Amino acid sequence: MLSLSTEEMACVRALRNLGALKEVSLEKLFGVCRSAMIVCPDGHQLPELYEHHAKICQGEEEPMHHPLALNGGAMLLAQESPLLIQKDGTYVPDGEVLLRHLEMAIKLKQPQAVILYAHAPCGMARTHGLTIDQQVDLLIRGKRRVREYVEPLGIRDVRAWLHICYEPDRRRTYHVERRTWESLSLTDLKGAGLCNDVTD
Ligand SMILES: [Zn+2]
Repeated sequence: MLSLSTEEMACVRALRNLGALKEVSLEKLFGVCRSAMIVCPDGHQLPELYEHHAKICQGEEEPMHHPLALNGGAMLLAQESPLLIQKDGTYVPDGEVLLRHLEMAIKLKQPQAVILYAHAPCGMARTHGLTIDQQVDLLIRGKRRVREYVEPLGIRDVRAWLHICYEPDRRRTYHVERRTWESLSLTDLKGAGLCNDVTD
């Protein structure tokens, strides 16, 4: 089982300090009882992630949370995601696959919201050498694509959440504040110890 590195921990702290990550706490329930989730199926992380999700997303109706899981989760959704390029340089259409299944899930299950997840530590992120801020960047790019895709299907609530396993018994879920994230300049990121250029 992977553990969160010192660098990853520092990155989460920096993004929280900049206001780009806000904890989704059990004290302030999301109030959505039917959701579609796009997740990484990591066998060490998904059970707790799902359990926590189900606690956060409660409403007056019977709960229904429908996970769609491919390795890397919502980091597969951005068209330019490095996770879509195989070692031999070929492109795999996993983002399109997820969107097609999401459309079917919306028709079958009528979720009120779509929640896009990345998580850390994540084997797929490590394989592709992604830092936490690069994971967040992919998550937000994926969110833009999903929003365009699901709005015609009647879904207006799309959220990007990051699940962090600090230790097996200390895990947190954070909402990525898109506006704050997009407003951060390279200087802000460098000042916070994050030096990856996230601009287009
Ligand atoms: Zn993963």
